[in-house]
Amino acid sequence: MRYTGRFAPSPTGPLHFGSLVAALASWLDARAAGGVWLLRMEDLDKPREVPGAADTILHQLERLGLAWDGSVLYQSTRDERYAAALGALERRGATYPCGCTRSEIVDSALAIDGARIYPGTCRGGLAPGRRARATRVRTVAAPIRFVDRVQGEIVQSVEREVGDFVLRRADGLIAYQLAVVVDDAEQGVTDVVRGADLLDSTPRQIWLQRLLGYPTRGYLHLPVAVTAGGEKLGKQTGAPPVEAANPRRELGRALAFLGQPVPDAPTAEEMLRGALERWDASLIRPARTIPAPG
Ligand code: GLU
Repeated sequence: MRYTGRFAPSPTGPLHFGSLVAALASWLDARAAGGVWLLRMEDLDKPREVPGAADTILHQLERLGLAWDGSVLYQSTRDERYAAALGALERRGATYPCGCTRSEIVDSALAIDGARIYPGTCRGGLAPGRRARATRVRTVAAPIRFVDRVQGEIVQSVEREVGDFVLRRADGLIAYQLAVVVDDAEQGVTDVVRGADLLDSTPRQIWLQRLLGYPTRGYLHLPVAVTAGGEKLGKQTGAPPVEAANPRRELGRALAFLGQPVPDAPTAEEMLRGALERWDASLIRPARTIPAPG
């Protein structure tokens, strides 16, 4: 099967150093394998979206020379596909309606991602008089294992470490975990290259792949660029946007962060060509976070 990779930014702001690392590594890994590289705009969470950010990201990628194949897939156009997948899970009894409010589960233990482990309150049915708010998927205690190309073997009991997780939120929005699984399957993605902040989400996604009869992908989780204080770069930490006018400098910093040799080339295009010839994912440091260069 032909390698199919993707970059899936959320349009919550322009590309910054951290998101450039994910874009560049997924592009290099796909192109070095002679594969396809798709672009998906994860614009489901409208309240978090910043107007104009999606176009800015596309413009930045173009200026950097990171060309994608085909047209951009916008998650906001795919409600029907997500509803169909959710319906299939519901018909199989893999989900249940949940009436719990956030404040009712704050006393639960902390989950692996800092959220709360769902204690299963509504698993056996809604208590009388309770109104359904969200839809959750049933999980199992048996551990899910996969081998990440950079981070090594990952083992997680989704039931114990996360709990039955939300597929449709109380505000009606489809949760990221379901959308990403449906899209990766329908776009024929074979390899997911993204930041290690999503490593703990991967067992949930593998669980959904199994329930929906989709194949499991290859995974490569990159170290996340963090501030000196250990926070993920982003809008909250005031990460500056990638300077599209200075692609060589930006690509050079991202290549160095990825442990790759930085080709001394006069143009961004030649730099990318050199990086492609020498791309070696085994040079990426197997860390979940690495401080961003100053
Ligand atoms: N949209 C997600 C983000 O920007 C990435 C999703 C993914 O790569 O699976 O963090």
